[in-house]
Amino acid sequence: MKRGKKEPIEVVCPKCRYTEIIYLPIEDLPRCPECKTQMLISELLDEGKSY
Ligand SMILES: [Zn+2]
Repeated sequence: MKRGKKEPIEVVCPKCRYTEIIYLPIEDLPRCPECKTQMLISELLDEGKSY
């Protein structure tokens, strides 16, 4: 899974379910732009997985 490139992960707001894709490594989880709640990691996205 690790090939020396950035890994996308999905983060979700526990309050309003707003989701966003971010790339590792990150220092802090982002805050929801809607309600400013700290977002949580939803799932690790696999390279082969299509959305
Ligand atoms: Zn939110």
